[in-house]
Amino acid sequence: MSQATLILIKPDGLKKSLTGNILTRLSETKLEIVAAKISRVSKELAEEHYRHLKDKPFFGEIIRYLRGELHDRHKVMALIYWGEDAIVKCRKLAGATNPEEADSTSIRGSYGRITTTGVYENVIHVSANESDAEREIKLWFEPEEIIVNLYPTKDVVCKEKKIKSWA
Ligand code: UDP
Ligand code: MG
Repeated sequence: MSQATLILIKPDGLKKSLTGNILTRLSETKLEIVAAKISRVSKELAEEHYRHLKDKPFFGEIIRYLRGELHDRHKVMALIYWGEDAIVKCRKLAGATNPEEADSTSIRGSYGRITTTGVYENVIHVSANESDAEREIKLWFEPEEIIVNLYPTKDVVCKEKKIKSWA
């Protein structure tokens, strides 16, 4: 079954120059990249992305982490991988959430660490299941940024919207 999954290369992955390594590892899956960009992460976006963890004691720290405040890299690389069993394949390559427990050959096992304050800096985010993937993809991407039709869309006319154009 074809699936889509959101991948984020988190600020520690960017700071450690791991983009190439991570994309090479992910290419083992033979999945297709159908969207990719570098994004700034607003507080609202980070809090919505991790809303399932908002009651956890580490919530504030993981928001700071995703926003790049721990790494002086105020951006993430966001990608959508698409194809057969995309979620399971990418989660397996990423490894367990806790980088100390992750298989040492996985991406998180290879490159992650736990900070002295206890945050799992695990270099990559992968959607956990199909409903999370849909919610997260719609949060991070607009339909026109994705080169396949993943979910139903509608045409809306927005005359009042101010957009930047090349001068
Ligand atoms: N996290 C953490 N400590 C924990 C659990 C999670 O620092 O005890 C961080 C970690 O960076 C993780 C993110 O919060 O990737 C989101 O947690 P989730 O449980 O959704 O794990 P994931 O889906 O990323 O494996
Ligand atoms: Mg998760």
